Amino acid sequence: MLSSLLALCVASTAFADDSAVVTYDGECVIRADIRSARDLRTLLAIAEEEFSHRIDLGEVDFRVKRARLAALTAAGIRFEMRVPDLAEVVRNERVRLATAAEGGIAGDASWFADFKTIAQINAKLDEWAIAHPSLVSSVTAGASLEGRVVRGIRISSAPMGANVPAVLFDAGQHAREWIGPMTAMFLANALIDGASSNARIARILSTCEIFILPSVNPDGYEHTWTTARLWRKNRRDNGNGTFGVDPNRNWGFQWGRGGASTDPASETYRGTAAFSEPETQSLRDFFYAHPNIVGHMDYHSYSQLVLWPWGYTTTAPLEAPAFDAIADRMRATILANGGQPYIAGQIATTLYIASGSIVDWVYGDRAITSLTIELRDTGT
Ligand SMILES: [Zn+2]
Repeated sequence: MLSSLLALCVASTAFADDSAVVTYDGECVIRADIRSARDLRTLLAIAEEEFSHRIDLGEVDFRVKRARLAALTAAGIRFEMRVPDLAEVVRNERVRLATAAEGGIAGDASWFADFKTIAQINAKLDEWAIAHPSLVSSVTAGASLEGRVVRGIRISSAPMGANVPAVLFDAGQHAREWIGPMTAMFLANALIDGASSNARIARILSTCEIFILPSVNPDGYEHTWTTARLWRKNRRDNGNGTFGVDPNRNWGFQWGRGGASTDPASETYRGTAAFSEPETQSLRDFFYAHPNIVGHMDYHSYSQLVLWPWGYTTTAPLEAPAFDAIADRMRATILANGGQPYIAGQIATTLYIASGSIVDWVYGDRAITSLTIELRDTGT
């Protein structure tokens, strides 16, 4: 009896801690110069979490308590300060967003002036579908663990059910990467505007279907707005006081290989099995339900990279030359239009080994051309 009561107390304490607003008091973000495996071990022991997508020798960003910086110096690790007071940055953002006006009408650029909640994103999707009934229709991709419907839109002037090629853009697998959903929404806005003002876009939309799913981990996204700004995973209760499975390590192609953690506390926890999570199951089923999808893009941040499979191995895929050509053209187009330098390459050789990612499954299981973009910035 006592032990089960104690277990209950521990469980409820863990839950209470997890639902308390995280302030990041006393924390900072540093860019460390990792010169050896020993340096890396020291940092992983001292830091709250690694903040870069790439964990290797060289420059890596970490979230660290300022009180632990002396230990880094004592260990001879060089670092530069990137964000001296993380709590202040998170607090200021929260205040700014709380006082920001609601977004404008469809097509109004001011809607994109700042980040939007999941409710605001869904309202905008509805607004587009109502304003452009012959072009935009609502689609859903199942529901999240907490029961939120994963919402999206189909943009096409081709008749519904016409067997035309489709391209799917998704964002928000990682909850804290807020620029992803906004970029997917910006793309939707550009296509909707372009349908009536740009002959090339009008032609594409009359011969293709574009699916846009701006927030495919809505529970995690909501959690970043209400509780923990830097939450990355979904909201799975792992049953041991930790929460969250990394959706982008849970996909069922070469699941459980390198670059995915078996530790439920890890930010890259792969889950108990491939497709153990409702978010990955329902997005997988969306691909099954739309066999006309021939292209796929998955948005993340940050690092400014255009990436293609494989993530689970450094071996190049058979179609590496084609991927290389597509990714390099994207890189060049981004540079020409916004002046931002991106680097293009295979995930495992450009970023790091990562198994269970969406692009590996979409390409490996469905034979669909699939890329990931790590959006701005570079951690500056
Ligand atoms: Zn990500």
